[in-house]
Formats: sequence, structure tokens, C-alpha cells
Amino acid sequence: MKTIGLLGGMSWESTALYYKQINEEVKNKLGSLHSAKIVMYSVDFDEIEKLQHNGKWDETAFILSEAAKNIENASADFLIICTNTMHKVAPQIQENINIPIVHIADATAKVLQKDNIKKVGLIATAFTMEEDFYKNRIRENFGIEVVVPNEEDIKTIHKIIYEELCLGLVKEESKKEYLRIIDKLVKSGVEGIILGCTEICMLISPKDTPVKLYNTTEIHTNEAVNLALA
Ligand code: GLU
Repeated sequence: MKTIGLLGGMSWESTALYYKQINEEVKNKLGSLHSAKIVMYSVDFDEIEKLQHNGKWDETAFILSEAAKNIENASADFLIICTNTMHKVAPQIQENINIPIVHIADATAKVLQKDNIKKVGLIATAFTMEEDFYKNRIRENFGIEVVVPNEEDIKTIHKIIYEELCLGLVKEESKKEYLRIIDKLVKSGVEGIILGCTEICMLISPKDTPVKLYNTTEIHTNEAVNLALA
């Protein structure tokens, strides 16, 4: 079994899900007392969040690269960055380490392709929805059209992520807002929805909507386990 490197803490609420789901999946696959070999480095998200919102992405890249080097030195075979947003600086992190980064957008796009999805809706942080690092990777490398909500809905989704979900707060009224936005995307013709932020699965689950949901936390952890056991 290979050792999975987890770069987490963004937020720790979703990193806890990564830790649990990876171990559960290894147990499902191997049975008995088997569990995953994991090296984890968890950052202080308050520091990262302030840098993000001040546009200081190079500084976030430096902090995450230092953490990734520690993970590599602690003998991880590959790196999982436990957030969609911080894949914005994945290229800079990759330059600083020799182990491969398992990109969350690639893992997700592979599942979309398997399901023959041609047009997908994306809900995530404003950084992930508005900038190109995520959407273009899926469009250009996998030929899938990615649709995002309007400006006002982007603000609503973003605020709920940072002011509630990353603090472990799950509110019924926020769930209604997300479902309203998902419904609009579905009416615009998307065939599925990417839950493109690793905390959204705390709020929305498949039983809430008939549209097919692509939970990036689950997809990324499954990919990690498949690679670890390959
Ligand atoms: N975990 C989130 C994501 O998947 C948001 C927190 C962050 O900015 O990293 O994008």
C-alpha cells in the first residue's frame, strides 16, 4: 500500500472528512483491521483565508509548498490537496516537490466523462467559480462545458462557505439557497452539478435533489485510495 499525503486544514472540517472517508474506503476494500497509510500536514486556515482575500496567492503558495515538502520528506508517495480553491497554486506547489499532486479537477472530470456528462454546473468558492484555473482545466483537457451561477448567486455561495461551512455551521436556510441556485443551473441545461468545494457535502446530499451531484470530497478520496492500493 502506498502512503497518501494530505495537505489539509482548509478547512479542517473537510479535512476530517478526507481522513475518515479514506480510512473507510480502505476498510471497505481490504476488510478486517486495514486502514490507510497517511501523512498529514494541516495548516492554520485563518492565515490562508486572509491571504486569499487580499490576493496574496504567492504567499499562500509559499506556505503550502513548505508544508508539501514536509509531507514528501515524511515519505508520502503522492499529494492530495484537500481543497478545490487552493489548486489555484497547485502548479507552484508541484515545482517544489517530486511526488505527484493528484489534481481534484482531473479526478472529478474523469468521473464526469465516465457518466458521459457534456455540460456541468459548478458551485464552489468565488475563486474557483470565477477564475480559470479549474473550469478551463475541465473544459480544455476533458471537453466538458462548465456553467457557473450569476454574480449575486456566486456571492451567496461564497459567503456561506467561509462564514458557515468552514466553521462547521450547517443551516437550513443556506441549504434552501444552495438548492435554489442548483435548480436555476439545472433549468439552464446542465446535466449534473460539481460540488466544487470540499465542505459543500456537509450541506447538500443526493437525497436533496434529483440532479446528479459530483461531490469532490468523495471523488478525491476515492481516487486517493485507488492510487494507494494500485
Ligand atoms: N475547502 C474549500 C474548497 O474546496 C474552500 C476553502 C478554501 O479556500 O480552501 O475550495
